[in-house]
Amino acid sequence: MEAKIYSDMRKKFTGYLEQKKLRKTEERYTILELICALTNHFDIFTLHEKLEEQNFHVSKATLYNTIDLLVEAGLVVRHQITPQSVQYELRVLADTHQHLICTKCGDVREIRDQALKADMKNLKVSRFTPEYYCLYVYGICSKCTFKMRQQKK
Ligand SMILES: [Zn+2]
Ligand SMILES: [Zn+2]
Repeated sequence: MEAKIYSDMRKKFTGYLEQKKLRKTEERYTILELICALTNHFDIFTLHEKLEEQNFHVSKATLYNTIDLLVEAGLVVRHQITPQSVQYELRVLADTHQHLICTKCGDVREIRDQALKADMKNLKVSRFTPEYYCLYVYGICSKCTFKMRQQKK
């Protein structure tokens, strides 16, 4: 599954880099490969940590730059979770689930509601061709609800 995703993504990314006349560096592909192996949302910090774990040293600047390219190429989605927190995920994964975002702590949970998914798939809009979607439901997570109850006591 992962290998299949990566070979697909690699092809698309190569096409994008060639079209934009950008360099096809080892670093860019390694970053993409790691992203394809992640099944969850990630931020730049965790991505950097994972690369370090694999003894792959890359500057934060390169990481930001590569992520920006992947977003522009339409392979990665940027989620602005809260004004302070940005997370990313593969675009092919983004519309397989919906996101529950806690407005207190910024925690993100994914749910898979098949009825909602079917509704979104059947969405008909005039003069517009939908390609993908990201659905966010904002609220309060159970941990924060618990904390708030404790504070009231
Ligand atoms: Zn997601
Ligand atoms: Zn919370």
